[in-house]
Amino acid sequence: MPAIRNVVIIGSGPAGLTAAIYTARANLEPLILEGEPSSTSDQPGGQLMLTTDVENFPGFPEGIMGPDLMQRFREQAVRFGAEAKLEKVTKVDLSERPFKIWVGEPEGAEPTYLAHSVIVSTGAKSLLLDLPKEHELIGHGVSTCATCDGFFFRGHNIAVVGGGDSAIEEATFLTKFADKVTLIHRRDELRASKIMQDRALNNEKIEMLWNHEVAEIKGDTKLEGIRVRSTVSGEESDLDVSGLFVAIGHRPNTDLFVGQLDMEESGYLVTGNGVQVTATNIEGVFACGDVQDHTYRQAITASGSGCSAAIDAERWLEANVHA
Ligand code: NAP
Repeated sequence: MPAIRNVVIIGSGPAGLTAAIYTARANLEPLILEGEPSSTSDQPGGQLMLTTDVENFPGFPEGIMGPDLMQRFREQAVRFGAEAKLEKVTKVDLSERPFKIWVGEPEGAEPTYLAHSVIVSTGAKSLLLDLPKEHELIGHGVSTCATCDGFFFRGHNIAVVGGGDSAIEEATFLTKFADKVTLIHRRDELRASKIMQDRALNNEKIEMLWNHEVAEIKGDTKLEGIRVRSTVSGEESDLDVSGLFVAIGHRPNTDLFVGQLDMEESGYLVTGNGVQVTATNIEGVFACGDVQDHTYRQAITASGSGCSAAIDAERWLEANVHA
């Protein structure tokens, strides 16, 4: 059997790496299981690996590229003694302590790691339309985060896809920058709450394109427009936009924990026990970042909750394992 680690951190975005920095500095020698580079949406480094300029992370007045920022987080964690492995967790057993974690093929095999405490920071992924070039052009005209990228579209014509609260929120926010925002929805009725709908429908910078979907994303190195298709007649036409914001929902990466950790219907982990904000329903298992936050979803808030998880884990270990 492998040695029992104090803390294993699953996921290596801002939440997981901040938890690693703090637990490493508390001499807990954390192990970060970062994920696999081949994975497209829950890749090591998290969603920031899919962005270009990050201009709202405090401490970087000139801005910083998303992947550079994550590399710095990682270096800082490793410098203080965290061990980082590019491995994807395939199974966990949190039913008894020490907790068991498998990477690779789990069937019948012994667990790869044992841990007194686990910090879950597996993040969430933005749902995409699944169109050619969509993934490659993220950060180059295609975006899944208006708060992050809206600023780059000052004076432009852009489009938002979706009909839920996220799409309306993003479209409304983007009118602060863009000259015109076309909201593309596949039906003739929005899913968003009434108050949000009214906000969008009364905004003169937002034009609704009902009963349409995106048929094609154009451009090789940057977005050069899209082709839209009517969901009623199938007729296609070009839309001249330099930005396309995909706001069709998010999915937390929680498949590993189904049946073990309490989650909302939407899959987000439930955290907080009145004392520790990152506690899950299992003592010794903590969760931080986007996997438990569908409200803020920012690097800085994920990072802050990673810090809380590290402190929660440290105090829990002190009281229950190292006492
Ligand atoms: P959502 O409610 O699931 O809405 C997703 C929207 O995207 C739907 O309109 C859906 O169309 C559309 N869609 C899904 N897949 C699509 C595809 N492949 N192509 C084109 N359109 C597609 O997701 P959400 O807007 O992210 O909201 C998630 C939850 O967070 C909701 O409970 C929401 O109320 C909440 N939220 C609240 C706020 C707020 O209160 N400020 C802000 C954001 C989110 P159909 O309608 O045709 O299915």
